[in-house]
Amino acid sequence: ATPTAVTVGIGRGAELGLLIRNGEALEVSEKLTAIVFDKTGTLTRGKPDVTDVVAFGIPEDRLLSVAAAVENNSQHPLAAAVVRRAESAGLALPVSERFTTFGGLGVSAVVEGEEVLIGNQPFLEEHGIVVPEKARTRVTVFQDVGKTAVLVAIGGELAGILAIADTLKPTTRTAVAELRRMGLSVMMITGDNERTANAIAREVGIDDVHAGVLPQAKAEEVRALQVRGEVVAFVGDGINDAPALAQADVGIAIGSGTDVAIESGDIVLVRDDLVDAVAAIELSRKVMSRIK
Ligand code: ADP
Ligand code: MG
Repeated sequence: ATPTAVTVGIGRGAELGLLIRNGEALEVSEKLTAIVFDKTGTLTRGKPDVTDVVAFGIPEDRLLSVAAAVENNSQHPLAAAVVRRAESAGLALPVSERFTTFGGLGVSAVVEGEEVLIGNQPFLEEHGIVVPEKARTRVTVFQDVGKTAVLVAIGGELAGILAIADTLKPTTRTAVAELRRMGLSVMMITGDNERTANAIAREVGIDDVHAGVLPQAKAEEVRALQVRGEVVAFVGDGINDAPALAQADVGIAIGSGTDVAIESGDIVLVRDDLVDAVAAIELSRKVMSRIK
């Protein structure tokens, strides 16, 4: 039986912009010891922009139009940034065929008879693309300022780098500081590379970062924390985050996130504001102190 205080708490939550799916989430939130955030679309706005275009031996416009032709088939926020950049430059996109997604790594397709690979450095190298020293340096310089470097290979050769930046949501820093003040361990988990992840984490005020985590491994990371005795909240927005949201003691989904994430969440932040996650925990503490 759900105690009256929990029912009242769920109603109060609704007023605060919290869709609380079950009373248990409200009861458990008080006991949380750790909160894990997905990076893209959760801590950041998830609407990244291409900030730099570096072409090797081909015109910048050619690099962009080929990359956009491939990314036009992808649902990834990075892909949307590439397509938008090509559109705003007024470029016509060539036809792309045989599109394939490699979750957490990149994409590939064939454009005008040439194989195109787009993704992170390990992904391209795995496919036999040589990434010369000067390109590697460019990549790390972008990553150290929190940008994601997307590498593009055309016909087996590295053709360029697109640097893509996402900005923090306005209240991310405040929310993280509040959660730490409340005594929770705050962590970030992302499929993005370590350098970019660390740069963003520094900006946010998080020092515990798990980077390069493949989509299916996010839930395993949550489980590992639970095995160590932590009571864990996971906050996420993406398809990739659904298993981790389900695995966590309390799954907190971003309201504007993908449907799968929202369905997997115990609590939905209707206004997308991370400060509302703080409100949820405070509400839980209040409600549970009333029951005891
Ligand atoms: P996140 O955890 O930030 O949502 P993902 O797990 O979706 O990240 O992706 C991890 C990394 O894989 C990205 O940072 C990027 O380097 C690469 N990647 C994934 N999808 C694409 C794509 N469509 N185009 C280019 N790179 C991609
Ligand atoms: Mg995300």
